[in-house]
Amino acid sequence: MIQERLHNVLDSLTPGCRLVAVSKYHPAEAILACYKEGQRVFGESHEQEIRQKHELLPKDIEWHFIGHLQTNKVKYIAPYIDMVEACDSLKLMKEIEKQAAKNGRVIKVLLELHIAEEESKYGLSLDDCRQLLADGEWRDMKHVSICGLMMMASNTDDEEQIRREFTVAADFFDEVKAEYFADDDNFRERSWGMSSDFKIAMQCRSTMVRVGTYIFGERQY
Ligand SMILES: *Cc1c(COP(=O)(O)O)cnc(C)c1O
Repeated sequence: MIQERLHNVLDSLTPGCRLVAVSKYHPAEAILACYKEGQRVFGESHEQEIRQKHELLPKDIEWHFIGHLQTNKVKYIAPYIDMVEACDSLKLMKEIEKQAAKNGRVIKVLLELHIAEEESKYGLSLDDCRQLLADGEWRDMKHVSICGLMMMASNTDDEEQIRREFTVAADFFDEVKAEYFADDDNFRERSWGMSSDFKIAMQCRSTMVRVGTYIFGERQY
């Protein structure tokens, strides 16, 4: 079942778009089932859960931390995390830089945008994101690689609204790419699209869809 749904998603990916299989609240065996089909990128959002899975599972898995990350948790994931997808403050970025340096690593990050209409404590407004980049402190961070943008669309059935929000993000990507990262090939990811909206996201230039429920079924809390 998991294998079949994984391949459904993989077969539907547009060229240039990759899958982050969101395995939070699903057991290690479910991840292994996907791993055996060749999937290597998995997304988790809780520090203890990802730590246990990282210890248990093959070491060539690329772990993405996709949820809100508290600064005091960075040190636990810094030894192995491939990408922090939801970086939404300079404070968090500085802590990632510090802990990545301690581990002699470079950690990829995405800047998380808040575009959806619903209230959320997390994510940068477009202006906050512009401010963070203009401020320039990130330029001195040798152990953080800013690889692009991440966002979540509103949780709504209104497809046109979802499409509008993804398009705002995609246009904003072009803006900051041109202004700050024109010569930086690492800055290339547009992480949007989940189980309910990844097909729309791919029409709106997503390079990374984060799909959980569609592959693994309902989460086992
Ligand atoms: C849980 C989660 C997902 C996956 O959601 P599904 O609806 O299960 O596909 C994607 N992105 C983030 C940030 C999440 O927390």
